[in-house]
Amino acid sequence: MNEQSCLFCKIILHQIPSYIIYEDEHTIAFLDIMPVDKGHTLVVPKIHSTNFINTNDEIISFVNITAKKVAKRIEIQLNTSAINFISNNGILVGQTIEHYHLHIIPKYSSNSGLQLPKNQIVVDSKKLTTLQKKLKIN
Ligand code: 5GP
Ligand code: ZN
Repeated sequence: MNEQSCLFCKIILHQIPSYIIYEDEHTIAFLDIMPVDKGHTLVVPKIHSTNFINTNDEIISFVNITAKKVAKRIEIQLNTSAINFISNNGILVGQTIEHYHLHIIPKYSSNSGLQLPKNQIVVDSKKLTTLQKKLKIN
């Protein structure tokens, strides 16, 4: 997907309608049209990049600063401080739009909002040590 065919680039350029709640020089935040729950918002950098890993560090900072503003507004106006901040990086984990975005998903009760699966596994310390060596950043 390139910038010309990117849905979020079109929203940024106001070429297609959206429910914008915040906008500044680097970022835009608008309501997700298929919300997981009331107030589900997407924070999007104005510069096109495909996903979190491919996004410039400074831009990631701007996205997070905007996310905090939006979350504070949700907290006050929608009366919840239970919020998931999530970004899908790759088709396998559910990314459908190839323009980096951060989901802000408020939750209002234990059976609403985002339900993260609890399929955690118990791993022995030898395996964890091996993995630690492999992943350690020097
Ligand atoms: P992803 O699946 O890539 O993590 O998230 C993409 C999100 O964009 C989905 O939650 C989906 O509902 C939302 N979305 C898809 N098309 C549109 C649209 O035209 N406008 C808005 N506001 N959100 C959209
Ligand atoms: Zn884009």
